[in-house]
Amino acid sequence: MHLLNADLHCHSTVSDGTLAPDQLAARAQSRGVQLWALTDHDSVDGLAVAREAALDLGLGFLAGTEISVSFAGESVHIVGLGFDAADAALVAGLAAIRAGRLQRARDMAADLARAGIPGAFEGALAYVDAPESISRTHFARFLVERGVCADVGEVFRRFLVEGKPGFVPHRWARLRDAVRWITAAGGIAVVAHPARYRFSPTLEYALFSEFTAHGGQGVEVMVGAHSEAERRHYAAIAAEFGLAASRGSDFHDPVESRVDLGALPDLPGTLEPVWERLTSRIEGHIEKGAEACVGR
Ligand code: AMP
Ligand code: MN
Ligand code: MN
Ligand code: MN
Repeated sequence: MHLLNADLHCHSTVSDGTLAPDQLAARAQSRGVQLWALTDHDSVDGLAVAREAALDLGLGFLAGTEISVSFAGESVHIVGLGFDAADAALVAGLAAIRAGRLQRARDMAADLARAGIPGAFEGALAYVDAPESISRTHFARFLVERGVCADVGEVFRRFLVEGKPGFVPHRWARLRDAVRWITAAGGIAVVAHPARYRFSPTLEYALFSEFTAHGGQGVEVMVGAHSEAERRHYAAIAAEFGLAASRGSDFHDPVESRVDLGALPDLPGTLEPVWERLTSRIEGHIEKGAEACVGR
């Protein structure tokens, strides 16, 4: 189970990805992924289609989501894995987070208009399937379409981030609520791409302390956004806090995303993979060489 090609972080058209859940399943399978989770931002709406496609293709499947949280003034993402996607408190919590996105988007558009870029709300909305899932990524695609920036990466350097046009501070869920929704629904909470947060060592320690105190059990170590040094750092954090390690591309789009589905190094052998704590929650059949693992 250790060397499984698991990809437990990616996005579909249900949030800010550009492939539909079943297209993602097919791409994951064609890239050699054996265990897959779809983790749309603040939503579980793609999971039924994703699950059916995964099982048809012979992929192991875990329910997933990526919850937006505010912690110490920073947006932090908590991935949930292996939960019951019909859990009422989880579904209601995610809906409440999404409900804040439309007003934030209007405020972002107003700020961009003040910076000389009109029409961004409608422009971004054109890229969204579910309007309440509108995100900065959709604004970024609009700004590229308008020729304001050459690519999405440039947008996130010149716009939409603190101190730049189009940034609007936002209150997301509380860390403890996100962790509790996931764990009460039978899943495992995982700190997503921890190197992306601009925390001091003290605040980072506080994040992992509070996260584990609330029942969080995992941290992403092998993730698209992490450098080699960052992978080593979060491997050490996993050991220090007794966390299981996760692996995921954070794939959004074939052109925008640097790391394709399944295209990551294996987890270091010293770490416990998060999927070993989720064997009873895996659906479908995973096979690798002589190793086989049958889920429910
Ligand atoms: P939001 O949830 O609306 O704040 O949007 C966050 C999303 O923006 C993330 O999930 C990423 O998909 C995208 N994003 C944030 N920073 C960057 C970046 N530097 N480069 C590319 N995409 C980014
Ligand atoms: Mn995203
Ligand atoms: Mn994220
Ligand atoms: Mn993500």
